[in-house]
Amino acid sequence: MEPRILGLHHVTAIAGNAQRNYDFYTKVLGLRMVKKTVNFDDPGTYHFYFGDETGSAGTILTFFPWTNITAGRRGTGQATEIGYSVPEGSFDFWMKRFDAHGVTYNKPSTKFGEQYLTFLDPDGLKLELIVSKTADTRTPWTTPEVGADVATRGFHTVTLTLASVAATADILTDVFGYKLLEQHVNRYRYTTDAVQTAAYIDLVEVPGEGRSLTAGGSVHHIAFRVKDDEAELAIRQKLLAKGMQPTPQIDRDYFHSVYFREPGGVLFEIATDNPGFTVDEPLAELGTRLMLPKQHEPRRAQLEAVLPPIS
Ligand code: ZN
Repeated sequence: MEPRILGLHHVTAIAGNAQRNYDFYTKVLGLRMVKKTVNFDDPGTYHFYFGDETGSAGTILTFFPWTNITAGRRGTGQATEIGYSVPEGSFDFWMKRFDAHGVTYNKPSTKFGEQYLTFLDPDGLKLELIVSKTADTRTPWTTPEVGADVATRGFHTVTLTLASVAATADILTDVFGYKLLEQHVNRYRYTTDAVQTAAYIDLVEVPGEGRSLTAGGSVHHIAFRVKDDEAELAIRQKLLAKGMQPTPQIDRDYFHSVYFREPGGVLFEIATDNPGFTVDEPLAELGTRLMLPKQHEPRRAQLEAVLPPIS
């Protein structure tokens, strides 16, 4: 069987203050912190993972919090919006909650026949809550304040802003197996039928817009999901045949990754389902301790001294 991309795996963005980032995603949005680790390439920086109970692919938003990072700038060559699926009728709850927590948001609007509510995280990262036209039966993580009737279900869409969509669309369709679902003016919605949810990528073409700057409040990369190493390596071969320059497979402890910059300038990753977040701590305790990859474990005391405490 042809190796397939199974929708989104995770999205990684850049934050400033670690505590503020943790508070926003776990308390205001009500996500579970499924892993507290370090940036494997810069272990003096945290890497936070927020998602559902198990950190299912298609629910995971991750951050590198870099204290005192300058603000990024939205523009072309960037993933500019991250859309979460929410239940119908939940917007009143979310708008009241955003008012109570001083969160900036716009009044609800509609695109591709779906209602959405745009808001900003404390670093200015643009997010959306979207009421999906198609059923989303994923079980949400809930908290005492964010119940199952309103909680986010995981990703619905990620939007890429591009100077030109053609070459990016070619990767999505020819390598990833996505199809154009709808187009409205300069917005193109691509989808895969390999999965039911986290299956959309929107491409927005804005030739006149300035180039993005990736820094605080920006998406660093988006990761697409594959079942296993074999599928990942097969897709890597297809990318090479397309003239892309994918990295070798890299072990990220919780998944195996291949990265490449797509022709529109956005950093893409392919990430495997295996081995998952319970590889180094039990399900009930996910995210409660600082987990270090084995290459950095000998430096634990030193790293714990430089990483800001999180409560
Ligand atoms: Zn990643």
